[in-house]
Amino acid sequence: MNEMEKLKAEVKKKGLKYHIITYGCQMNAHESEKIAGILENIGYTPANSKEDADFILFNTCCVRENAEQKTFGNVGRIKKLKQLNQDMLVAVCGCMMQQEKAAKKLMETFPFVDIIFGTHNLHELPGMILSYKSGGERFYSAPETQELHDDVPQKRAEGPLASVNIMYGCNNFCSYCIVPYVRGRERSRSAEDVMREVSGLTAQGYREVMLLGQNVNSYDGGINFARLLKRICGETDIPRIRFMTSHPKDLSDELIEVIAAYPQICRHIHLPVQSGSSRVLRKMNRKYTREAYIALAEKIRERIPGIAITTDIIVGFPGETDVDFGDTLSLVKRLRFDSAFTFVYSPRSGTQAAEMPDQVDEALRTERIMELVALQNKITEERNREYEGKTTQVLVEGISTRNPGHVCGRTSTSKMVNFEGGADLIGHFVDVKITRGKKTTLFGTLVEEGM
Ligand code: SF4
Repeated sequence: MNEMEKLKAEVKKKGLKYHIITYGCQMNAHESEKIAGILENIGYTPANSKEDADFILFNTCCVRENAEQKTFGNVGRIKKLKQLNQDMLVAVCGCMMQQEKAAKKLMETFPFVDIIFGTHNLHELPGMILSYKSGGERFYSAPETQELHDDVPQKRAEGPLASVNIMYGCNNFCSYCIVPYVRGRERSRSAEDVMREVSGLTAQGYREVMLLGQNVNSYDGGINFARLLKRICGETDIPRIRFMTSHPKDLSDELIEVIAAYPQICRHIHLPVQSGSSRVLRKMNRKYTREAYIALAEKIRERIPGIAITTDIIVGFPGETDVDFGDTLSLVKRLRFDSAFTFVYSPRSGTQAAEMPDQVDEALRTERIMELVALQNKITEERNREYEGKTTQVLVEGISTRNPGHVCGRTSTSKMVNFEGGADLIGHFVDVKITRGKKTTLFGTLVEEGM
């Protein structure tokens, strides 16, 4: 029996369980599915909670400063559980651990954390467990790599939705962003690989795939992103396709035309603007102007009527003046986004923006974000009210967390809809008449069940 077989036998004999705590974006959520797949391949089964687990794994994010503080706080609280369970393994991985400084700080602060690794060596987790158990290292650093490791097993979340990575990393170096440093340069999966995965998911009964990448518009897997979408629509039976995230500088006319031509592609584009001021956009290294962004958003709406556009906005970027912030407010009023993720700028050490002079005073940043959030909330609610009285198709994702007699799902425009119904509807496309549009959710009644 080799070492891996011995580990599998031990895990099985003791009935060991795992629990993964995930921070950050959908990319991280999808990587946690891969970690779960790897652990289940070894024999671990899912625990109901961290208290019930023998292997607790934190998949971290470092995009915001408070995410880092939260992670440190939560890792610290595991110490007691570790003392109560001699089989317990604790691992911390992901973007934050790809930064050597943060990894070393965590290692020193929490001696009870057994295994630490970053974003480039997730596929080596079985080897790390074996190495740690035979007295090896705690920290498994991995340099940036051009290699892709998509052949790891995946344990997907339950329901009709599946995520598919089409590319990794980012080449853009927006001046505030840590992602290119922790995720490396862009690497695209081949179109053949993506096609194979989407076809397989369709055959397994998934109804919607989300194509993931930091900047899907610069995908280059032998064909460009527009052509990849076209191939997926033409050669697979997947009923719905979403994608995330689009960088405005790379969103081509070809892509707009492909979305317009194929109803399977969701009527929703997440298009981060970040600021409404061309001066701030230049300092952010976003490579487009306010005018170019507005023209692009208006062109998308003209070519694809009814499409929802959502965005990300950063408030209080270094040097942002009242005039710059006013430009952001006026852009929001003009484009009337369906919704926006709004963030107060927080410096990430290692990025260019963290070194910029004129960091905006915290009280002013807070004042500005409150004004922006109030404006966007009002617009979001108004936009959602436009659905009232209309019938819209919804893919039912699950039982509502608030009301067990209701189900919830999304429209093609990515609006969450809640209505009376049972578990038998999960995974089905149904028509729902919207009776009320609130800020985060639409409420309605079932009209008829579709395919
Ligand atoms: S496009 Fe900019 S914000 Fe997005 S991941 Fe790349 S560097 Fe970060």
